[in-house]
Amino acid sequence: MRQIENFIAGEYRAAASGRRFDKRSPLDNRVIASISEAGRDEVDAAVQAARAALHGEWGAMSTERRVELLYAVANEITRRFDDFVAAEMADTGQPEHVMKHVFIPRGAANFKVFADTIKNVASESFRMDTPDGRGALNYSIRKPKGVIGVVCPWNAPFMLMTWKVGPALACGNTVVVKPSEESPQTAALLGEVMNAVGIPKGVYNVVHGFGPDSAGEFVTQHPGVDAITFTGETRTGTAIMKAAAEGMRDVSFELGGKNAGIVFADADFDAAVEGFSRSVFLNTGQVCLGTERVYVERPIFERFVQALKAKAEAVKYGRPEVHGSNFGPLISLEHQQKVLSYYRKAIEEGATLVTGGGVPDMPGELAEGAWVQPTIWTGLPETAAVVREEIFGPCCHISPFDSEDEVVAKANATEYGLSTTIWTSNLARAHRVAERVDVGITWINSWFLRDLRTPFGGSKQSGIGREGGVHSLEFYTETRNICVKL
Ligand code: NAD
Repeated sequence: MRQIENFIAGEYRAAASGRRFDKRSPLDNRVIASISEAGRDEVDAAVQAARAALHGEWGAMSTERRVELLYAVANEITRRFDDFVAAEMADTGQPEHVMKHVFIPRGAANFKVFADTIKNVASESFRMDTPDGRGALNYSIRKPKGVIGVVCPWNAPFMLMTWKVGPALACGNTVVVKPSEESPQTAALLGEVMNAVGIPKGVYNVVHGFGPDSAGEFVTQHPGVDAITFTGETRTGTAIMKAAAEGMRDVSFELGGKNAGIVFADADFDAAVEGFSRSVFLNTGQVCLGTERVYVERPIFERFVQALKAKAEAVKYGRPEVHGSNFGPLISLEHQQKVLSYYRKAIEEGATLVTGGGVPDMPGELAEGAWVQPTIWTGLPETAAVVREEIFGPCCHISPFDSEDEVVAKANATEYGLSTTIWTSNLARAHRVAERVDVGITWINSWFLRDLRTPFGGSKQSGIGREGGVHSLEFYTETRNICVKL
């Protein structure tokens, strides 16, 4: 069993209280790691180390050297690729090929892309007239915000954590990371990478624990944390925003979603079915950008439901490293209970169950794991809880529509606004509908196709701010204007 400690000022440290908690495998509920739970003292030590690093070598470092170091971090992650794959797979139970082709490479890329951004970005300048005719020159400079609190979820832990740590460090900040209690291992491992490449001590710190009355709250309430970036549930975002109000600290939020996907009758049918088989079932539905509401134009509705059902029934459950398995468990038994409660609620609300709806028969010790079946419903009104609330499981409700106006109204009838996926071969309609759906990210004839330079974030209750490329600089730096009278 692994022992996972906090990483503070370049050293792995157990909490002085001696408090630890267990991490269980989602595959079979076996305890796989013992994690040190940081108390207020460890969080305070981490914040102080981060502050000291800002005033030391890191704070004085040239952009060029910082960029070199971030490239070295990315290369070291790639060198230790198998360790990261194994750590993430142990925490989440998700298939090895997803780790190898998406989540871990993206973690390394997150350091390179923001190193490139910071190296190449221009600052603005305005020449202005003055009454004496001599004029003045304004130019802006970017300064790091300081110590950034980074609070992360468990669904794609390494990719989502580095999506924040990459730009934060590129901009010259220091970080105190609080990974999810469900997925502590890759954040801990990244400490070894930081030390190996020579990132100064205190630049990257990790404190483990839970949310309320634990490390999450201690980080977000700490007055020495200058700004907080958070990915997780909207409800947690509300609590963190309240904490951030004390001291007037900035927040960047990537929150929940209840994303609609729209299929018009003129879409490439097979491509659309393939797209939805990913957007509904990938990562066992634990993707914030996933589709839980599917709207299909009436002429192809029945055929589409049957085709997606066939995809759901073809998934291969299994251990992540087993060749051919492509469908893992949910993150925990607790989350399994939440998802199953929605599976029951759908039936109580009068849904027609197309497929799934329960727990698959798993052999041996896997029967103890957090498995659920991919599930499809039809026949519910838009007011049903299953159609309104984020479930975060491998499930969707599919309903037919007859007009563009109708489907846009339905897609927008939610407090969330994260992403949508639209499938049609009519280019004019694709652009028109894309502009009318109130979300931060729209995919046309695709899903989860990410260019890391583009703005990423949610509208309405799905988030505050945008991350990606130069957009990340809005949060991770403070822009100052300097006006020179000529
Ligand atoms: P969560 O909100 O339960 O937890 C996220 C993190 O916040 C964890 O580290 C947790 O310990 C911490 N936390 C909990 N309460 C806290 C508090 N009061 N103060 C400080 N920290 C606290 O979310 P989760 O279950 O880990 O992740 C799933 C959620 O994340 C879903 O809603 C999903 O949509 C969302 N998500 C959004 C995006 C996006 O980019 N918009 C990406 C991934 C996940």
